[in-house]
Amino acid sequence: MTAPTEVTTPVGPERLVGQGLDPNQRESGDRAIHAIFTDAKAGPETDLVITFRDCAYEVWAKRGMIRFQRFYAEAGGYDYRIIEQIGDNPIANEDYTAIATIDEELSASKASGFPGIEPNTAYVEPEHVSYPYAFERIAQLFDSPNAPDIAINPKPYAFGRKPGQHGALDVIQARSPLVFSGPGVRKGIRTDTRSRQIDIAPTIAHLCGFPLIDGQDLTGRTSSERGVRPDVYLKRQDGHVLGAIIDPEDASRPQRAYILLLDGQSNTELKWRLENDADAIPNLRRLINKGTMFEYGSITNFPSITWPSHNAIGTGVWGGHHDIVNPTYYLRETREVVTPQGQQFDTAKFLGDGAETLYEAFHRVYGPWQGEHGAFTASIHEPCTRGADHATLERKVVGDRDRLRELTQQFAGDTSSKWLADDHKPAQGESIVDGRGVAQAIVLYTDASHPPPAFMFHEFTITDGVGHDYGPHSEGQRTALDETDVRVGRILDALDGAGLYDDTLFIITTDHGMAPVDASLKATQVRAVLDAGMKAVTADPLIYLIDMAVTITAHEDGRTAMIEVLANDADASGERPPVVGAEITLSGRGAKVVGRASTDSGGTCGLALPVDAEPGELYLTIHHEDFNARRLRLDGTAIVEDIRGLLYGALA
Ligand SMILES: [Zn+2]
Repeated sequence: MTAPTEVTTPVGPERLVGQGLDPNQRESGDRAIHAIFTDAKAGPETDLVITFRDCAYEVWAKRGMIRFQRFYAEAGGYDYRIIEQIGDNPIANEDYTAIATIDEELSASKASGFPGIEPNTAYVEPEHVSYPYAFERIAQLFDSPNAPDIAINPKPYAFGRKPGQHGALDVIQARSPLVFSGPGVRKGIRTDTRSRQIDIAPTIAHLCGFPLIDGQDLTGRTSSERGVRPDVYLKRQDGHVLGAIIDPEDASRPQRAYILLLDGQSNTELKWRLENDADAIPNLRRLINKGTMFEYGSITNFPSITWPSHNAIGTGVWGGHHDIVNPTYYLRETREVVTPQGQQFDTAKFLGDGAETLYEAFHRVYGPWQGEHGAFTASIHEPCTRGADHATLERKVVGDRDRLRELTQQFAGDTSSKWLADDHKPAQGESIVDGRGVAQAIVLYTDASHPPPAFMFHEFTITDGVGHDYGPHSEGQRTALDETDVRVGRILDALDGAGLYDDTLFIITTDHGMAPVDASLKATQVRAVLDAGMKAVTADPLIYLIDMAVTITAHEDGRTAMIEVLANDADASGERPPVVGAEITLSGRGAKVVGRASTDSGGTCGLALPVDAEPGELYLTIHHEDFNARRLRLDGTAIVEDIRGLLYGALA
């Protein structure tokens, strides 16, 4: 171990290939940041523009900007230090206790200048939210080669086209409810301690008696690389065990774990229901009353969106480490946009090798499932699937199909009449899917062909769909939660009947929060970059700039120079392919054009330099219709506008 340098050398992205802005992207990066904030539509909707360059993470906002670096912390994990600040630090408020009730949502909305009367339209301005774990959640994103050059964080009420939304960094969109309930867990407790969604998997592993192993932590270094004894439960483990829930008086160990994931359920809404209307959700109340609930919920991945967030829960690592960085993202090496969330099925293949899922970990510890032996694991409608023996979204369905059909029919009455009365086909469809999920669960716990699932990860979808369409604090959302509670009750009854209830560890959570959003904005802030005429692949809220790498070699005689133009992103071979037909203009004093050339099939060309011009006055512009233009001095340095001055004026 080289301890002295460890605390003083900044630690940049893992596996750095193209994420963030490299020296060839200085001009396009600044242009994109400026374009977003000055766009007539996107500018007023944008909270943060985030990137990495020059060994530092950058967070830009209209109210100010910071650059920060990360370092190995002596106590483990990372420390973060700000190295530049103009105006306000936009992510200074990391308070995880902020906006913890519907009343607090209303006050924050009122403080933001909105009426602050109706919870379902309680919009909040960035100055009145917090960003828990902002530094860690921003930095982790850029650890994946799939990470963008630039990420946008919209204002809390400006992310998309529906009355309820999530995806952003702020506490409203990033906070999930979290409850642990079962053997070994403190009972009847509301804890005010903090949690991140990456802490769930290690806590399950700990309660289920997994051995500690020599695996990677948040920093990507194994226990032995960090000079300590095995100290993690998973091959990679960004999170840690949530000690606040462990009951020191209860030494019993769960025989199995069951995550009930109520997709998109707002924590403030759930708390309101428990305080004001708990009789309507007796089954969730039953689990919560015999367990520990996190008063301030648990903070999820950035972006706080379904596919990355589910996989963070199921692996104990952030999206930047499991590599599903967004519902949709760009693979630079193959020039391909992939959309795990779009395709829904067969998405285990997108999960990076660096992560281990809980299904895989249960198999590692208790053996692969073989007939009546080993650990049987199941994923029901759940986006985290890799390693599960039953996985609906991998089309691996275990269990008697006739019984499945029969139970699905039997539960058809659980669907509220509201969805058809409202002529809301998506909710009707989600309700039917959730009914099938319950049938799958009951079959899996009562089928004699395999042991009951040692680990179950079960997605309930209607709370999300209805949260989006009706809003997080709507009658619709309440009906969706009531319906879901009935389904949870059917599962608990089946487990009771099979004698499996008492020794099962239950976890109630979600993949993200849900914020009231002004749907009339029809917001998609990343468009501003394309509207400014820039070349980029955009996968909301991520931006991948399409740039050229330019090398200028001025020859000794001072009379000629060679220019090489390559695509800035390497392809699958690891090489940067040449840019053919790039038009190069050499200009001198007064922008007078003194030379032109165009690159050949190898991406190169030569230029004669005028002998009567000072080399310091000459500059090159490089244009190609598929790439962002470049403007360089002969020594290769970029000519950039001072965006600090443009954005912050006198402050800069
Ligand atoms: Zn979701």
